[in-house]
Amino acid sequence: MSIAKNDLHVALKKYFGFNQFKGLQEGVVESILSGHHTFVIMPTGGGKSLCYQLPALMQEGTAIVVSPLIALMKNQVDAIRGVSKEEGIAHVLNSSLNKTEVKQVKEDITNGVTKLLYVAPESLTKEENVEFLRSVKISFMAIDEAHCISEWGHDFRPEYRNLRHIIKRIGDNIPIIGLTATATPKVQEDIIKNLGIHDANTFKASFNRPNLYYEVRPKTKNVDADIIRFIKQNEGKSGIVYCLSRKRVEELAQVLQVNGINAVPYHAGLDAKTRSSHQDKFLMEDVDVVVATIAFGMGIDKPDVRFVIHHDIPKSIESYYQETGRAGRDGGEGHCLAYYAYKDIEKLEKFMSGKPVAEQEIGQALLQEVVAFAETSISRRKFILHYFGEAFDNETGDGGDMDDNVRHPKKKTEAQTEAKL
Ligand code: ADP
Ligand code: MG
Repeated sequence: MSIAKNDLHVALKKYFGFNQFKGLQEGVVESILSGHHTFVIMPTGGGKSLCYQLPALMQEGTAIVVSPLIALMKNQVDAIRGVSKEEGIAHVLNSSLNKTEVKQVKEDITNGVTKLLYVAPESLTKEENVEFLRSVKISFMAIDEAHCISEWGHDFRPEYRNLRHIIKRIGDNIPIIGLTATATPKVQEDIIKNLGIHDANTFKASFNRPNLYYEVRPKTKNVDADIIRFIKQNEGKSGIVYCLSRKRVEELAQVLQVNGINAVPYHAGLDAKTRSSHQDKFLMEDVDVVVATIAFGMGIDKPDVRFVIHHDIPKSIESYYQETGRAGRDGGEGHCLAYYAYKDIEKLEKFMSGKPVAEQEIGQALLQEVVAFAETSISRRKFILHYFGEAFDNETGDGGDMDDNVRHPKKKTEAQTEAKL
């Protein structure tokens, strides 16, 4: 199939109201429309959904989208229905549907009305669903959050492992589109191998966030006071402080409040009502600071978060990148400040001790990278991007001077003394 560039822009405008493609989107859309296996690696917020939604809307047949989170699927389906005004154009197929609903979904697919069908991997493994999907026209399969395939990713889901086998059963020559924001070469390799898409057209966007300033400070017993000072210097700005445990979240939120900082706690131990009220307050700017466990942030799109503080160092560079990535979404200032003590690494190691050996080994390897990052004297940005398989030159690269090690290089003598210790 050959589609003129002009037609792509017309469709982009028609379905999404956008005048321009973002980043690598256009090439991805072309690749999918031409029926190639396609692999898309773009940071969060890069616009991956449109990469498969647009070609799905432009093609005959139904595109199956595998996604791990039911809430996110529902959002996407609502958004698509909103633009097309055609109820049946997008559907979710999962265990929450009753018989009548399932019948309607199948009817819409059979009649060629449904362009996008969102499924959780568990639903796709159901025999009756496989049988049905075999019998209808499928345009392609998109595997969103494809890192869930890999044990080296931050969200491994065993059900994802089976996908290739199921896709084969649904159809022999179905183009497969893998999408992820996880950029490590190991995870990418796993995805390609697992989905069997060695010949895929690969599109990888840069993971550089030039407006973020990276800083690591040694963690002493004065860490709370240090955080308070930092927040006071940034009065009125929005920020997130991540802690490892719920208990620490509660304590620190209180300490901040007592010190006149408008802060609320957020963690999975709070009831749903409190959680959503605290989240809303942050989004509406009734509070400046959320002190949170990693439960906070998924799908939160507040563009003007000005700082992300890690009271405790995260368990991988990947997590660190995702969490700090919530700062400066609008392209404005974003200060990423992490506190580091080796003792905290040992704590994280202890957490893993109950897990299967293979998982512990992966966890250890990821932790060692965190140690190397925290202790490095080279540019933090260079380190992060290198971890993601991306070369970076501080002299010429965007944001090359935006970290503590570049701005305040350790003096040679100091570095040498440290090396001897
Ligand atoms: P990802 O899945 O990569 O994290 P999303 O698909 O959720 O990113 O898109 C992030 C945001 O970018 C959404 O708000 C989306 O509407 C917007 N977006 C996507 N493509 C474009 C475009 N071509 N022009 C403007 N905004 C876009
Ligand atoms: Mg996405």
